[in-house]
Amino acid sequence: MPVRIARAAAIALAVSAILALSLYAARDRGWRQAGAPGQTEKFSTEFFGTFDTVVSFTAYAKDASEFERYLEAVRDEMTRLHQQFDIYNDYEGISNIKAVNEAAGMAPVKVSPEIIGMLETAKEAYADTGGAVNAALGPVLSVWHGYRERATENSADARVPSYAELSSASAHTSCDDIEIDRGDSTVRLRYPDMRLDVGAIAKGFAVQRAVERARAAGLKSGILNAGGNVAVIGLPPDGREAWSIGVQAPGGGAGSEVIDILSLTGGSAVTSGNYQRYFTADGVRYHHIIDPATLYPAKGVKAVTVLHPDSARADALSTAAFILPYAEARDLMAKHGAEAVWIFEDGRMEMTDGYRRLSKAGKGAGRAVM
Ligand code: AMP
Ligand code: MG
Repeated sequence: MPVRIARAAAIALAVSAILALSLYAARDRGWRQAGAPGQTEKFSTEFFGTFDTVVSFTAYAKDASEFERYLEAVRDEMTRLHQQFDIYNDYEGISNIKAVNEAAGMAPVKVSPEIIGMLETAKEAYADTGGAVNAALGPVLSVWHGYRERATENSADARVPSYAELSSASAHTSCDDIEIDRGDSTVRLRYPDMRLDVGAIAKGFAVQRAVERARAAGLKSGILNAGGNVAVIGLPPDGREAWSIGVQAPGGGAGSEVIDILSLTGGSAVTSGNYQRYFTADGVRYHHIIDPATLYPAKGVKAVTVLHPDSARADALSTAAFILPYAEARDLMAKHGAEAVWIFEDGRMEMTDGYRRLSKAGKGAGRAVM
């Protein structure tokens, strides 16, 4: 997974725009909260070092050692998958996405079943979105990455790549040229100039697997939040009918205003936003979600949050819903039984009916008041 320095200096707009899902639970920074005798207690903690984000984990357990067990399962899975999906760093004994990229055009690379599974998800998303979500867009994303880094180091140096540069980088960017051999557990990129960037789906895939590991370890009730990629497990054991997920204003670091509350009884909520990674040149913001049709940042949406039972699917769909024209995005959500809310650059907001039912703002006003 891209290990990039998050430089989303939040421009907190007073009006419109959702983002960064946060959890009320995660606000209870204390190690534990007492429950009724004989019952489970709530434990919360955070860790860093995976997927370029803070991971908050809240779980109900009978004691600290049980919580530790769940935490270990989650942290171990997130770390393992981070290393597998990294495109910038090597890890001893691990044949990761970076290794696949480096072997482009050469012999197939032996990889883990997780890489095979994640890349199959990526190819599916590519087909499903008419190429809008494209894990083979690496060469183009790498051009943007370079310009973003330069601009961030020295804002006087902020420049925008020319279409010629982007277009020549896009020569081999089809997911159809990712050759997967499930039986041999190998991957090969057909052309030497191909590069994978799995940033649009890897974190969701990892969150889903981490939740499954924690469940297998016995967790019945909890929430995992990897930088706005939220998954809930079971229900709160205190009789509440749903988890309350606070939706923060854009850019939303800790302490930023909660502008909506979602009631989730299961599954995942994943956000894509134009303020998560970007640079500014000549007063224009160039963010990190690139429309493969234009090779420039997708226009029109400021933030979108997608709800789906599977976190990997929700992650792919949130990137898709950010890029695709609204009508197509809406059809895609319906096709997958996903719910979503869109905040457009002009402040307009749209939500699916299912999202509206789960959202306090949507219920109250028909349009969220922000
Ligand atoms: P997300 O925040 O899940 O919407 O994913 C954004 C990340 O996905 C970016 O930081 C890039 O690493 C990568 N990305 C950007 N544009 C695309 C695209 N059109 N298809 C696939 N991945 C992309
Ligand atoms: Mg995504």
